[in-house]
Amino acid sequence: MQRTGHCLCGATRYTITSGAKFGIRCYCSDCRRLSGAGSVAQFAFPEEAVTIEGPLKHHFGTANSGNALDFGFCGDCGSPIMKTTTRAKGLIFVYAGSMEDMDGLPPLRPVFEEARPTWDAPHATRAPEP
Ligand SMILES: [Zn+2]
Ligand SMILES: [Zn+2]
Repeated sequence: MQRTGHCLCGATRYTITSGAKFGIRCYCSDCRRLSGAGSVAQFAFPEEAVTIEGPLKHHFGTANSGNALDFGFCGDCGSPIMKTTTRAKGLIFVYAGSMEDMDGLPPLRPVFEEARPTWDAPHATRAPEP
């Protein structure tokens, strides 16, 4: 099987040649800041199955746990593409929203849910019209 995806401007593209190991919806502050959203859906793939082409730019960080983080963005438009962490060696997390085909992915497990902002309730009731 093969899965493809790309950033907002199209300069950064990737191909994934294996199924996802698992998926998470992460509510940590890093994910919030890199996305501007309350949480980020991402899927973990074996590192060797992911090929990224284009002007990928990296931001390196350290998690509260001490694990080293590598965030990959399109260097042209800034779209988040991938992340690796020394906590999950051999895996590459691909941000789900950049994928071309959304079929065949496992259900998401929430992580760092205690950090979820109140406005990002998973099944929020619709606010009344102003
Ligand atoms: Zn781009
Ligand atoms: Zn996160």
